[in-house]
This record gives sequence, C-alpha cells and structure tokens, in this order.
Amino acid sequence: MSADIIKGKELAHKLKEEMSKEVLFLKEQGLVPHLTVILIGDNPASKSYVNGKKKASGETGISSDVIEMGVSTSEKELLKKIQELNNDQSVHGILVQLPLPKHIDEQHVIEAISPAKDVDGFHPINIGRMITGKDTFLPCTPSGILTMLKSYDVTIEGKHAVIIGRSNIVGKPVGQLLLNENATVTYCHSKTTNLIDFTSKADILIVAVGRPNAIREEHIKEGAAVIDVGINRLEDGSLTGDVDFDAVFEKASYISPVPRGVGPMTITMLLQNTIKAAKGLSKSER
Ligand code: NDP
Repeated sequence: MSADIIKGKELAHKLKEEMSKEVLFLKEQGLVPHLTVILIGDNPASKSYVNGKKKASGETGISSDVIEMGVSTSEKELLKKIQELNNDQSVHGILVQLPLPKHIDEQHVIEAISPAKDVDGFHPINIGRMITGKDTFLPCTPSGILTMLKSYDVTIEGKHAVIIGRSNIVGKPVGQLLLNENATVTYCHSKTTNLIDFTSKADILIVAVGRPNAIREEHIKEGAAVIDVGINRLEDGSLTGDVDFDAVFEKASYISPVPRGVGPMTITMLLQNTIKAAKGLSKSER
C-alpha cells in the first residue's frame, strides 16, 4: 500500500482561483478587500513570510500593504498603530507578523487587534467562538489542515485524531477543530511518555513538533492519514517536515508533503479570512 499525497499547493491554487472570482465580484460592488501586515524588525524568516502573504494577496486581487517598523519600536507605539488601523474603514484585516521582539508583549498585541479584523484568528474572542463552534475567523494553519482533510474526503467523524504539539497557533486549535467535527482527540507533547502508544492508534495524525524525522514508519497505524505541519531548514538550505516521508508514505493512506503541503494552505486561509472580514460576516454576528 502507498498513500495518496495531499497536495496542499494544488488545493491552495484551486481555492485562490475561486477567491479571485469572489474578489472581482466584490470589487464590482465597490468593496476592495484590504489586508494590512505589520512587520517589526528585520528577521529574514518573518520578512519572507510577509512577502509570501503580500504576493498571494496580489494573486487573488486582494489589496495589501506592509507597515515596516524598526526593531526598537515600543509596545505603546505598536498598540497606537493597531488602534489607527482598527479605526480605518478601508482596512479589513490586520496581521502583526510574529514573533515580536522580546520587549513587546505578544498577548497585548493580539488582544489590541479588533476581533472583527483579526484575520489570524488569535484574538481570545475568536478563539472562544471557535471552541464554542460559532462562525469566526479560524486560525489559518489549523483551518488549512481541516480543509485539506475534507477536500480529500478523509473521514473525521468517529475517528481517533492524535495531535503532536500543543502550541496556541497550531496544536491546540487543530485539535479543537477536529473535535468540532466529531473526532476523538488526543494531544501529545514533549512530556508525553511513550509517544508511540498514542501515534500508533491514530487514524488521523497531525504532526506539529518542529523536528525532522520526529515521526517514522513505526509510529504510524496502517492506513492512517498523516498531516505534516513541521517546517525545518536543513544544513543544505532545503526544507523538510517532521515526518520521514518516504517510509511513512508506504504505510499511510494519506500524507501531506513538505514543502507544498500545509504551508500554502495557511496563506490561503489568511486570504479567505480577509475576504470574510471585508464582507463583515463575523462582525455582523457580534
Ligand atoms: P512550537 O515550538 O510552539 O510547538 C512545538 C510542540 O511540539 C510543543 O507543544 C512541544 O511540546 C512539542 N514537542 C516538542 N518535542 C516533542 C517531542 N519530542 N515529542 C512530542 N512533542 C514534542 O511550534 P509550532 O506549533 O509553532 O510549530 C510546529 C512546527 O510547525 C514548526 O516546525 C513550525 O515551523 C511549523 N509551522 C508550520 C506552519 C505552516 O504553515 N506550515 C505554520 C506554523 C508552524 P511542549 O508543549 O511540551 O513544549
């Protein structure tokens, strides 16, 4: 047996084509969805993520701008800028690229963004809405993963989903989304003893650790669906995930690759949230 490859990049391309049509329609009605990204400092990885978001926005017709602020920007200055954007009717989505310099409290920043413009889906109000199953801005990576599973008709209801990783941006919310879809969810993390006891019982295995080859063939249940969230840069500059792809490919029924897997879907969900913000769907519910 060998797995079907869940091609995130292809799926993202298809979704972006659909979104382009929607954006065109909105523009005809006089509504131009606009995303503002704030970038603090000159971290090369953050810069490259921000460029990717800007490029993808442009491809779908979403207008965007990047506000670059120096590494010594104070928390007060950043919060003031966010407040200005909250009050700016022409800005529908606000994203502050993380991580932030140490002297700025990330949580203060997340909570300063209006929940109606929180296209990252990190604001506690939006997290609460997600947990209670209400319409909201879903965090981008978890919602991309859910979209990938659904698009490939992977059965979620009644299945055992095991999540490795419990970060606020990936592990915790993806488990919640799968629970909302009636999976039985187990979380594993660095303090989990005998990881293999859990992974080997997983019908759906989501791996968000950040270590190459953290998951190998022996961890996998025959026929499992495996989503590799990890992004690791090897010494030769190439990117790899957390899963030993070649070995797991032979045993799983579905597997997502790195690159061209979850990454492109994350950006696509950001665009989807920006369109949603422009249409004011979540706002009107509040
Ligand atoms: P974090 O570092 O915040 O979380 C990693 C998680 O892995 C933690 O919960 C940690 O446990 C757990 N962990 C670490 N070692 C082990 C181990 N040996 N066994 C079991 N669990 C372990 O990372 P993120 O969630 O932010 O990201 C995870 C990976 O996904 C990274 O490679 C990141 O680059 C990538 N990523 C990819 C995205 C995409 O779009 N494709 C988007 C976001 C992230 P503990 O909580 O106990 O420390």
